[in-house]
Amino acid sequence: MKKTRNTRQRGVILDILRETHDHPTAEAIYREARRVLPNISLGTVYRNLNFLRDHGTVREIRPSEGGSSRFDAADTPHAHFHCIHCSALLDIPLPNALEGLRFEGEERISAVSLVDLHVIGSCSGCEGASTH
Ligand SMILES: [Zn+2]
Ligand SMILES: [Zn+2]
Repeated sequence: MKKTRNTRQRGVILDILRETHDHPTAEAIYREARRVLPNISLGTVYRNLNFLRDHGTVREIRPSEGGSSRFDAADTPHAHFHCIHCSALLDIPLPNALEGLRFEGEERISAVSLVDLHVIGSCSGCEGASTH
């Protein structure tokens, strides 16, 4: 019984992440999840996000300037662009040079499963606003 409930909660959280591209915080996911599961708690959302992250199903993106972690469904490899002005977090393609990255002679690394590239700057919408 408990197991079924956990699986359902996890499925709802994953659906929310797959339907959005704006990388919600755990709090935003919680607000969405409550529409479907009115009794779900914020702690449950965090627990499920941690579980999904540890299994590679979900990526956690920690903003470099602090603040809440953002999440997305890790379906395809991609990098993130983070606007320092409006906090937009955009999916951008992983540069070709980074795909199939090798660390020749680096014996401490046995296999690479993810390259977590975080590009920081101004988005085109904020570019004009940032000049003074
Ligand atoms: Zn911006
Ligand atoms: Zn993303």
